[in-house]
Amino acid sequence: MTKMYINGQWVAAASGCTRTIINPFNQESIAEVAEGNETDTQLAIDAAREAFDKGGWRHMPGSERGKLVLKIAELIERDQQELAELETLDTGKTMTESLADMADIAEVFRYYGGLADKDGGEVIESPIPESRSKVVREPVGVCGQITPWNYPLLQGSWKLAPALAAGNTLIIKPSEITPLTTIKVTELIEEAGIPEGVVNLVLGSGAETGQILAESHSVDLISFTGGIETGRKVMTAAAENFKKIALELGGKNPNIVFADADFETAVDQAMNAIFFHAGQVCSAGARLLVQEELYDDFVEALVERTRHIKLGSGFDDTTQSGPLISKEHREKVERYIEVGVDEGADLVVGGKRPQAEELQSGFFLEPTIFTNCQPSMRIVQEETFGPLLTVERFNTEEEAVQTANDSKYGLAGAVWTTDIRKAERVASELRMGTVWINDFHPYFAQAPWGGYKSSGIGRELGKQGLEEYTEVKHVFENTNPAPLNWFK
Ligand code: NAD
Repeated sequence: MTKMYINGQWVAAASGCTRTIINPFNQESIAEVAEGNETDTQLAIDAAREAFDKGGWRHMPGSERGKLVLKIAELIERDQQELAELETLDTGKTMTESLADMADIAEVFRYYGGLADKDGGEVIESPIPESRSKVVREPVGVCGQITPWNYPLLQGSWKLAPALAAGNTLIIKPSEITPLTTIKVTELIEEAGIPEGVVNLVLGSGAETGQILAESHSVDLISFTGGIETGRKVMTAAAENFKKIALELGGKNPNIVFADADFETAVDQAMNAIFFHAGQVCSAGARLLVQEELYDDFVEALVERTRHIKLGSGFDDTTQSGPLISKEHREKVERYIEVGVDEGADLVVGGKRPQAEELQSGFFLEPTIFTNCQPSMRIVQEETFGPLLTVERFNTEEEAVQTANDSKYGLAGAVWTTDIRKAERVASELRMGTVWINDFHPYFAQAPWGGYKSSGIGRELGKQGLEEYTEVKHVFENTNPAPLNWFK
């Protein structure tokens, strides 16, 4: 049975409860893990609080903390094959995707390990004679970190690495559906020599463990990645003690293709944008906007390719897309397919479960495209989080921008054109945290990631991702103190 890690010890749940983790490819049980509750979460919070308050970790020179974070990167690289296999077992994604995730995750730890000693604060000009003013960044304190099931360890790394580099202590709670790689990386964190109490791992349902992290008065910051409804609950709970919040929420990301785009590349990447990881990607290019002149040819090419997507086991080298994560999630996406049909969009490919015998035990759904979609449709506006692409037409640049911005989300978007001035104009008008020009999906440790509007608050990655885990302090020193004589 796989345990939780609290105050440097691997422990079973206080209640003795466990949860079975399922492989979404065949519904077989792959692990039995501890199922924590309020008691375990409170123990983890207390451990993190004590480790922060006693000061050893936060007072360690940044260069020393950085070395430990770099050591974690090394260990992830050493064990990348095992980690990738666990991720594929747990999420169904292909090994190609899981191995790419592990490489990115090691880079995230390396990047923040390198940043740990780079900010010595700054001396600022003081308007008061005979004084000195400095501005320093300090760790926020105890951080609660809650991650989703689609990129379990990748999303975890975006939180763990900067929090540790900045000198915080933390409790991480992975999704109850996909905890395995977070458990494994916690073993690596222990092996790297991170002091006890600094990193604590709690396993269990969000409604129980996650909610307590968000509410607790002993937690100073909550960093959450997940859906908007849960994000709202987290934000409301965090208001209890006005803790700092970082929210990475959903997206409905427009992929805008102008008629002058490189046709082959734009088609190829539009496929990748939506069908990568069966569309279960916050930044999936689920909303395709194609200029009228190109529309018919583009749709035809997309549909043709979509028919040939090879579904299968993530461990099969020929598989291009794995299953959805769970029975409930597949049903949710299927309900959206019904909504699309009812709303009058044209279902041109997919829309049902595949027939192949070997796919019957997994949560598979055929890659699906709806054409002739309208901006007001629910399938266009809501995050469906599956292999479901909607296609809309536009005529002018202004219309493309206005349509793309007509969304409560603002996570990411892309523009395809060979006219670079047009690309830059459109990029500057899109209300999104990331805009890709003639590409889709690149993200990396050095560049900030996060959303406008309902896609979230704050940024992960980049130096901004480290700043989220710091408080700013102004220290003023009077170098020639004397009485003021005001109340004499
Ligand atoms: P979810 O909101 O259902 O769950 C996310 C996490 O929150 C899980 O660990 C869950 O246990 C926990 N949780 C559930 N209820 C809670 C509560 N009341 N209090 C505290 N925590 C609670 O999301 P999901 O289905 O796991 O993930 C999919 C969502 O994540 C999608 O909306 C996707 O867009 C989003 N996502 C966003 C990004 C990003 O970078 N913006 C990245 C990945 C995923």
